Amino acid sequence: MGVKLSLRPLWSREATTGLIAGKQAAAWTTLVVECMMVLCRCGRQSVVFLGSLVMCTRGGFFRAMLVGCLLAWGAEAQAAGPKIYIVTDLEGASGVYSWAQARDNKSKETPLGQKAMEYFMGDLTAVVRGLHDAGAGEILVLDGHGAQAIVPHLMPPGAKYITGLPRPNPIEGLDGSFAGVVQLAAHSMMGTRDGVLNHTQDSVRENRYWYNGVESGELAQVAIYAGHFGVPTIMVSGDEATCRESRKFFGESCVTVAVKRWIAREAAVLYPFAETREALYEGAKRAVAAIPRCKPYKPSLPIQAKKQHLVFEGPEKEPRVVTKEVTIRDALHIYSF
Ligand SMILES: [Zn+2]
Repeated sequence: MGVKLSLRPLWSREATTGLIAGKQAAAWTTLVVECMMVLCRCGRQSVVFLGSLVMCTRGGFFRAMLVGCLLAWGAEAQAAGPKIYIVTDLEGASGVYSWAQARDNKSKETPLGQKAMEYFMGDLTAVVRGLHDAGAGEILVLDGHGAQAIVPHLMPPGAKYITGLPRPNPIEGLDGSFAGVVQLAAHSMMGTRDGVLNHTQDSVRENRYWYNGVESGELAQVAIYAGHFGVPTIMVSGDEATCRESRKFFGESCVTVAVKRWIAREAAVLYPFAETREALYEGAKRAVAAIPRCKPYKPSLPIQAKKQHLVFEGPEKEPRVVTKEVTIRDALHIYSF
């Protein structure tokens, strides 16, 4: 939509001087016409401002001033739109179901891996468009897949994209100015019985994490980091198990979009791209509307953290489980363990 408004059309000289001169009828006519023009551009959210306007048509100058300011404020807020941060991964994209498509840098060089990145960019395009059409302001995208998956020439307009490693911060640029986080192409945590490509951070060492005793995956890790800034997760996409995990951690208000269903860890029922992209587009629009209902995910501090992973030892590379426990005092250090 890209609404760009200023105070001018709302609070013109004609309306102001008319009100000051006591020419109420003429001033109100001007004001109402100008407001209607703005409302047409602002869409549904401005109905409340129209209601305020109608309610005060019998009021005096000061009430008119108040309503004018309210209208101006509403239009300005709409013009800026909520800032949205998108954290991406690859395993949860439409059409991705095998490690060969997504595991490491090597798969990036193969036709399978490159196709998977194209699939992912199709999902990302649908979400950026949906957010944009729902009135989002700035959209910042983080290439969160370990090997990086953003394909620059396929970046949809209307957002900025962070890619390349290493980076100064795990979720670079995220701060309290954002209204919501979208976790796109995400996957369920390691050990999820019905999770396509389920893992947490390291699929070879089979990492598992617990925070304050709650086993958690990458969805929760992103949300804990964002929670430090008071930013809620407003949308998650991935397979059906990922969506269930999202509902468990973030509640029903967070929008979920499933793009496939588990058959085995490397086998899935894929949903057609035309349908998943439509669902992602509509989901992104719903996610913007859901912002006021979504809560940041904030386990109590300090976080008692436990991590389990495999080490491979001896000539036979026998796996052995190693467990570590630490206290995390700052949610921004969630990835340092
Ligand atoms: Zn991941």
